[in-house]
This record gives sequence, C-alpha cells and structure tokens, in this order.
Amino acid sequence: MRFKIMTLGCKVNQAESSGLAQALRERALTEADSAADADFLIVNSCAVTGESVRKAKQLLRSLKRRNPQAKLILTGCWPQAFPEDEFEDADFVTGTKNRDALLDYIMQAQAEMPSRCIAPYQSGDAFSVLPCADTTRTRAFLKIQDGCNQFCSYCIIPFARGRCRSMPPERLDAEAKRLAEAGFREIVLTGINLGFFGTDTGQPLAEAVSVCAAQPGVLRVRLGSLEPERMDQETLEALAACEKFCPQFHLSLQSGCDRILKRMNRRYTAAEYRALAAKIRSIFPHSALTTDVIVGFPGETDADFEETLRFVEETGFAKVHVFPYSPRTGTRAAEFPDQVPQSVKAERAERLSALADDIRRKHLAGMVGQTVEVLAEREKQQNAQRFYQGHTPDGTLVKIFPENAEKGLQNCVICVTIEGYEDDCLTGRC
Ligand code: SF4
Repeated sequence: MRFKIMTLGCKVNQAESSGLAQALRERALTEADSAADADFLIVNSCAVTGESVRKAKQLLRSLKRRNPQAKLILTGCWPQAFPEDEFEDADFVTGTKNRDALLDYIMQAQAEMPSRCIAPYQSGDAFSVLPCADTTRTRAFLKIQDGCNQFCSYCIIPFARGRCRSMPPERLDAEAKRLAEAGFREIVLTGINLGFFGTDTGQPLAEAVSVCAAQPGVLRVRLGSLEPERMDQETLEALAACEKFCPQFHLSLQSGCDRILKRMNRRYTAAEYRALAAKIRSIFPHSALTTDVIVGFPGETDADFEETLRFVEETGFAKVHVFPYSPRTGTRAAEFPDQVPQSVKAERAERLSALADDIRRKHLAGMVGQTVEVLAEREKQQNAQRFYQGHTPDGTLVKIFPENAEKGLQNCVICVTIEGYEDDCLTGRC
C-alpha cells in the first residue's frame, strides 16, 4: 500500500508529517511518488487563518478529482480547532491529538471505525512524540514543544493544540541520538510556542540545543519560530556558547504599535521588541531576524498601521511574512466590534508586502560576494543543470551550482561564494 502526505502550515506540521511518514514506513507502507499513485492521501492541515482552511478544502477537492479510488484522510489543526465543520471530501478525519486513530484507520480498520475521530484536548495531556524522520536524511525537524497557554486574542492555536507541554529530557536525548545515528547533519527544534519549552519539565531551551549539538555527526542546530517575551539575556548567552547553533531568529512581531499589541494580548511592547533585536545583534553579529506581522487587526487605524510600517523599516529584518487579519470563530478578536474593512486590510497588506520585498532584496543583495557555509540538503535540476539547495547559518535559502558536476555534495556542509540572487534565494558556486 502506498501513501502520500500533503502538509500545509508551519514547521511543527512539517515535523509531524515527517513523523507520520516514518510511522507508516515502519508499518510496511511505501511513499507514493505522486498523489495519483497513492492508496491513502493524507492532508495535514492548518487553521491559523481562513485562507489556510480554504487551501485545505481546495486541496481535498483536487485530490478527490485526481485520485477518486484513494482513501482521503484529513488531519491537523483545522479539524481539531473546528470539529463542527463539514469535511465533505474526506473519508476519515482526525485532529492533532489522536494520530494513532489515523494509523489504525490505515492499517485495515476502515470498516470498523467512524469517519471522524477528533478528541478534544484536556489539561494534563502528555507530550506526544511522533519520531521525526526524513528520507533525505539531511535536516530533521524535531518537535520538542506543543500547545500554548498565551491566548493571544486573534489566535486559534491554543484551541487546536491544547496547553503547553514539552518533550521530556530523556526522550529528547533519545531522539537526538537517533537522528544523529540516522545521519542527519542539522536538527531544527520546533514547537508551537518554543520559548515555553521546559516550563513544565524544567529543562532550559538552550540545554535542548546543547543536547542535539553534542551528538556526533550533527553539525548544526537551529530553532523554529519564537515568541519574543522569553528570549532573555541568559538564554541568548547560553545559545551563543554553543558553536553549532545557527543564529536565525524568527521572532513574531505581529504589530509595531503598542495599542494594537495590547489588544492582541501580546506581552511585550514595541520598545521591548526593539531592545531584544538590538541584544540579539550584539550577541550574534551574523544573525538574521525574520518576523510575522498581522495587518488590519480590529481597531487598527491608519496611524497605527503607519507605526508598524516605520517599525518594520527601522528594525532591519531579513524577511517579513505579512498576514491580513483573519477572524477565527471562538477567539476574542473575532468579536471585537471595530473590524477593519477587507479593502483596507488588502491595501495595508499590499503596502507592507512591498516594503517586505524591498527589505528581502536588500538582505539578499547584502550577501552577494560573501562566502558562506551551506548544508547541501537536496539535489535538484534546473534547465538540465544540476544544483543543490540548502540554507546558510542565518537561514537564507541558497541554490548551489557545483563547479565539479560529478562531485556528490548531498548532506555536506560546503563553502559557497554567493554570486547573486533570484526570487527568494541566493545563488552561488562552490
Ligand atoms: S503565543 Fe499567541 S500567537 Fe503564538 S500560538 Fe500562542 S496564542 Fe497563538
């Protein structure tokens, strides 16, 4: 039997999809090359915006058309956060909680199981581990934290992921060792609110980084998306002490205006964020700071938006992801009376995106001429030319065109001279 997983959303979803694929391979299923060849098509969905749910619906519909014989399975944040929704095209639905039901369904239990198995989260739920794996064996996404207790007023995630919980230290040791033995060179630690890792187990985040870095063969350790409020001096200095730590900081900003941050229930001010950015740059001079910004949050005035524009321009991000505010049923902000009209949200998103593109181009242009270390993660082909794709320590994507076409570089860290950039990535030779 063959399966194909399609993943939407964040790096936690990517980590979980890779774990799910591994669990299926261990049960003697093989990964199909395309959706048309699969017996089971699995959509691992996201619910962070209305647009994410629309994409999942569209994907289910198109998969049903392309391969009507396959069993279509929906999992992830969408059904977990909105269990009452219609999931018309899916034969079987689970949330983020009981992935075992998905495995049971695939392992021939289809006839005996209901078409929906969505279990709500409860306080005290344990951290669930899906052993991470990837067939390219270069860069592993390891989920070490799940859930969130923050309840930002716009965010559905605490409903889709439950309360904060961390991978226990002994399991982290075992997973890091297993990934190193499997040949992975880089480990990316991910979580829903990674800064809160260890608040339940007592293990500091920097220690999780060191545990991974101590594994023979692991050359790099990176952190996924972070919330700003827990990145204190002690954590940053402990990270800086780890030579294999890659200085890429994706710190969600969401707004550069204090009034809006407060209404979002974010627990920092623009000035505190600015101070944190400065601290990161002084401790990690070769770091890149990337972020997410929501525009058109309820009550955001033109002046508030201008404040965010200025903040983004001044902070010198390497990349900015722009999201027009999307009301999520069940969140406080969806009930705020002063919703911003769609046309205003679109106009603000366009203006901030134009600035973000400009910022990105500056970041890429600033790297031309430098020699950087890149882990060759994937071999690809472009116009009959072979190239590798990988990331710099600060997280910038690079296409590497080797001088010697015969040389196998996959899974090696190589020195690349950056010659230019195209779209969203650097190009270079080695
Ligand atoms: S910190 Fe806020 S935005 Fe991030 S997952 Fe938690 S509730 Fe959502």
